[in-house]
Amino acid sequence: MHRILRRQLRRALKLESIDAVEETLRRWLAEDSDAAKGPDAPQLREILRSLITSVDQSYLQLERDLDLRTRSLDISSAELFEVNTRLKSELDAQRLAADSLLAAAKRLAKNSALPLPTADQAGIRPLTEFLTRLAHDRDSAISAREQSEQRLRMALDASNLSMWDWDFGSTQIFYDRNFARFIGTKEQDATYDLGALSRRTVPADAQALSTAIRDVVLGHRPDFEVELRVRHEQGHWLWLQTFGSVTVRDPDGRARRLTGIVADISKRKQLENEIAANLKLLETVLDTMPLPVLIKDRTGQVQRANSAWDKMVSAGTAGESGHGLAVNSPVLGSVHRKFDLEVIASGQPARYEARIIAPNQREYDVLVAKAPLKLDNGEVTGIISVITDISEQKRTAGELDRARLAAEAAARAKSGFLANMSHELRTPLNGVVGMASLLETTRLDSRQARFVQTLKSSADALIAIINDILDISKIEAGKLDVATELVNVREELEHVVNLFSAQAFAKGIEIASHLAPGAPPTIQSDRLRLRQVLSNLVSNAIKFTERGAVLVSASRGRAAADTDANHIEFAVIDSGIGIAPQLQEHVFEAFAQADDSATRRFGGTGLGLAICQRLVELMGGSLGLDSAPGQGSRFYFTLPATGAESSASWSATDDVAALVVAPEAIIASALAETLASRSALALIASDGIDAVTQIESLPANLRHIQIVIDSGDDRAELESWVSAMRLAAAGRSVTVTLLLPHGCQDLPPIGIDRCIGKPVCTAALFEQGSDTGAAGATTRSRSLIGPVARKRVLIVEDNAVNQELVAAMLETVHMDYCIAVNGREGVELYEKDGNFDLVLMDCQMPVMDGFAASRRIRELEDGTRRVPIIALTGNAMEGDRDSCIAAGMDDYLPKPINLALLRDMLDRWLCPPATQSEPAAGAA
Ligand code: ADP
Repeated sequence: MHRILRRQLRRALKLESIDAVEETLRRWLAEDSDAAKGPDAPQLREILRSLITSVDQSYLQLERDLDLRTRSLDISSAELFEVNTRLKSELDAQRLAADSLLAAAKRLAKNSALPLPTADQAGIRPLTEFLTRLAHDRDSAISAREQSEQRLRMALDASNLSMWDWDFGSTQIFYDRNFARFIGTKEQDATYDLGALSRRTVPADAQALSTAIRDVVLGHRPDFEVELRVRHEQGHWLWLQTFGSVTVRDPDGRARRLTGIVADISKRKQLENEIAANLKLLETVLDTMPLPVLIKDRTGQVQRANSAWDKMVSAGTAGESGHGLAVNSPVLGSVHRKFDLEVIASGQPARYEARIIAPNQREYDVLVAKAPLKLDNGEVTGIISVITDISEQKRTAGELDRARLAAEAAARAKSGFLANMSHELRTPLNGVVGMASLLETTRLDSRQARFVQTLKSSADALIAIINDILDISKIEAGKLDVATELVNVREELEHVVNLFSAQAFAKGIEIASHLAPGAPPTIQSDRLRLRQVLSNLVSNAIKFTERGAVLVSASRGRAAADTDANHIEFAVIDSGIGIAPQLQEHVFEAFAQADDSATRRFGGTGLGLAICQRLVELMGGSLGLDSAPGQGSRFYFTLPATGAESSASWSATDDVAALVVAPEAIIASALAETLASRSALALIASDGIDAVTQIESLPANLRHIQIVIDSGDDRAELESWVSAMRLAAAGRSVTVTLLLPHGCQDLPPIGIDRCIGKPVCTAALFEQGSDTGAAGATTRSRSLIGPVARKRVLIVEDNAVNQELVAAMLETVHMDYCIAVNGREGVELYEKDGNFDLVLMDCQMPVMDGFAASRRIRELEDGTRRVPIIALTGNAMEGDRDSCIAAGMDDYLPKPINLALLRDMLDRWLCPPATQSEPAAGAA
């Protein structure tokens, strides 16, 4: 029985002991017991027995369950203990972890703005949360730092800077990779040993750096900046500039760390050196310059003055440096200031003359040239003034001015003198020339005629000299002008040749003019000046030629290299004495003559070629010379032939041969050149035999032969040669042209088809009109009595000789005249009897001069009729003609006059072109 049941039964049965329970029960339950003697006792006993059994069973089961439970409790308790122990240790560990987390959080939170967890939050979770937030913050900080480092890196790279960092605990200095690039080592961030760095630095610079570092470390100054020369890996030197300051100090203030940057300034240094060298150069140039130079800033303050300036303004101020004194002294007056302001405002240079007074009171005339100093953007930063001391030039200019005025006065006096002299010389010469020309028209025996001729030629020579001297003085005074008019070239050539032909033929020299095929027939030029030049050259050619010929030619000139403009070349060629090469360039100088002995022989002033040279230059050409002693000379000049007519073009005839038979090569070739333009062949023969031989050998296809003969005087010989030539021509058609001697009046020789009188112009060879059987074709003379006869002339002239001369000349041409002895008388005569056809008016007269008289006559005219007034004057200077025209006169005849000149003038003014006749006598 279960003990609990037993105990419960004991207590229920109130038994003394436990053992009694069972005994009791047994007894009770026994059949023999008193209790067991009732009726129900068996059933009750059964029920009790089953109850006790079931209770017992329940207790037993309970017992087992309890046991089981106890056992399982035992087991749980051990586990619980174990777990408890483990939990406890875990808790300890957790607490430790939380402590260390807290400690870590505290440490980490030191640089964070996050609030530390409070004591009640000191659990793992809040700490972890705190740390997570801290970690997040830290990540953000790291990425910000990385970004900023990256930016720093980029900034360093871009700025070409390197950063260094030196922790004093070490002898190594950290440099970022740019430094490696500077010194040419492998490009990376690296640390460098202090000693090694120092060894590759110029010792003096290393020393300067260590002094600077020491000062900063000791706190003498906050930072340093040092420039050092550091050796590059490749051996050359770099210029580095380093800045640094203490970045960490310990609590005692001792420097712990130095940080800074370094830059490669080699290029800057190089530039600085170059700039310094340039500045040095500039300084040297400035100081070497003899001209004073000032450099000012934009306010006009002098920044720099060179030594020449110092020297100029401090001259005589012994002991003073001059520099400061000079630049601050009042010598810089308001005028300079004004120009300074102008230059600064306008940015344009300025020049002016001024006067400055040095401290020693010395005055200078200066020329100041100011220029703005500008930046690239045009901003004016200052002014440079260059001062030229022109005191000396001023003085000289003053003297020159005075000298010029004196010279001008002298020149005026000279011109006046020349004009006077010219007048004075011309007046008596007028008498000589005029009277000689009158005398020539009277009956004279041969001796008297010779005397008159000599008289005339001497007077002509005198006139030529006076004209030359006047011309050269006009040229020297720059008073010679040239006109532009239409000039007929052939007329001019012929005019000049005609003028000199008598002189040439008298000397036994041939003379001809040659208008070469292709030469422009007309040009725009100054007719009189051209004539003057050609006349001068021809006159020389004849003078310096003893035998042979003189040719005056015009041909198409070669165009200048850079233009296709037309030109004409005039040449005067002679076969005379020639000029030695060394003398050739001098003959164009005034008063120069090639050969004294020749001059003595030939005479002359040495002015002719100088005048010709200047005249040709004025006409736009230049006079040249080809010559050799004994070979003759060729003077030539080329003039522009703008607007010239084009020359007629000839067509050569295939079957015509031309032959020139002439002894003078110069003339023969001019004739041949002319003939060649219209024939298949043009030959030259020197004499009859040569001509016959050449005709015989002419090709058969040349059916016509044109022969031009310039023969001597032997008529019979000429005729026989002509017939020989015709024979040699063997049936071909032959035309023979003979150049007749000057003045030859004879009938043409037999066999001659055509005669041309000398002096010949080659262009006449093709002129039908010159064909003539009479030799007189070329002789030009004029009836002395022309349409001017019986016309009335008023002579106003004070000089008695001239009165007589002009009167005699007018009588020669059967004209009537009245004489007035001065201008007033002339005007009175005109007023009283206005029936004059022409007035010859002297210019310089007492009482009233010719100019006033002419003006008065013009005033008196009623406008229906204008009497021609011709100035008759010894004034031959430039401008005289203009003065006469301005006074109302119509024309101008400079003295000395001769009959021919006077006749020309009378014809021009008294015979209208229709009635003007100049019959060529004998033009039959
Ligand atoms: P001049 O009045 O003396 O002739 P020019 O100036 O005309 O002065 O000439 C200067 C010099 O040139 C002459 O003196 C002469 O020696 C020389 N001369 C000029 N033309 C010729 C020439 N055709 N032949 C030789 N010599 C000449």
